[in-house]
Amino acid sequence: MSAVVQKAFPAMGTVHTLTVEGEQALSAAEAIKSQILAMDRNWSVFREDSEISLLNRGARIRPDEDTLRILKESVRLSEETDGAFDVTAGQLTSLWRQAMRDERIPDAREIAEALRHTGARGIRFSGRSVKLGRGQSVDLGGIAKGYALDRAAALLREAGAAHALLNLGGTIGAIGRPVPIGIRNPFDPDGEPIGTLILDNRCAVTSGSYERFARIGNQSVHHIIDPRTGYPADSGLVSVTLVGTDATALDAFATAAFILGPFCAMPFLRRHGIDAIFIKSDGKVLKTEGLSDTFRLRADAHPA
Ligand code: ADP
Ligand code: MG
Repeated sequence: MSAVVQKAFPAMGTVHTLTVEGEQALSAAEAIKSQILAMDRNWSVFREDSEISLLNRGARIRPDEDTLRILKESVRLSEETDGAFDVTAGQLTSLWRQAMRDERIPDAREIAEALRHTGARGIRFSGRSVKLGRGQSVDLGGIAKGYALDRAAALLREAGAAHALLNLGGTIGAIGRPVPIGIRNPFDPDGEPIGTLILDNRCAVTSGSYERFARIGNQSVHHIIDPRTGYPADSGLVSVTLVGTDATALDAFATAAFILGPFCAMPFLRRHGIDAIFIKSDGKVLKTEGLSDTFRLRADAHPA
């Protein structure tokens, strides 16, 4: 019997919703949920005994297969983005997370100290085990949802699902029929979307500064940190949405593209056949040619 199954659950600090159609829909949706919850348990920096917490405390660990794979992919994607995406930016990201809580800009000494411990080349793999460089800290926040989406899509293909729409906290994948999705208006995040994108067996991943944003004095602070400077990225973008097939790479590339801006990001996006929608802080919207038929700005969109 064919069925439509919908499931929503919290994970990775956000809400995930799954819509799956096909004979195995229920068991596939259940399997995806438990797979994501296992990743969340292993990767959370808020759990003292997670694999990533142990790693960040300096232990050599022999992690779960997904943990080993995402760490290896992270190092590769860090190299491809010349370190703009850097999975070892953990010291920097927690410094700025704390800064937002305390409404206090970190001082130059703290930033220099965090920068000194950033660099994906510090991660040492040996067989199935892994260890960080001294004082390093891993943050999978910029890639975890993309990786989880790829694993979920693989599971659905194995189960022979006829159609699915997976939304892992805004990291979205469509399998089967094309699906129109709304692209958030960063200037009005709770209101109408800025435009509509038709997703046809592809994934869409967004990085933006508008969701976790604060103003401290006259400085705007958000959660995507430029590892070249140690400060929140300042490339003139408020959001970037990437469209392609490899969600793990899209997620890391979206974080990197947000940091680097369209001009520096286009070479690696082009190399991987990835399409993009860039929304600039002055309200201008740029899109790649590949989206000319599938992305439409709303006629009445006044972004800025
Ligand atoms: P989202 O907010 O949808 O998760 P991102 O994929 O851009 O968007 O992830 C942002 C998260 O990535 C941050 O909250 C932080 O955990 C982590 N991060 C911030 N800066 C970097 C960076 N330069 N490289 C890798 N990860 C980063
Ligand atoms: Mg990302």
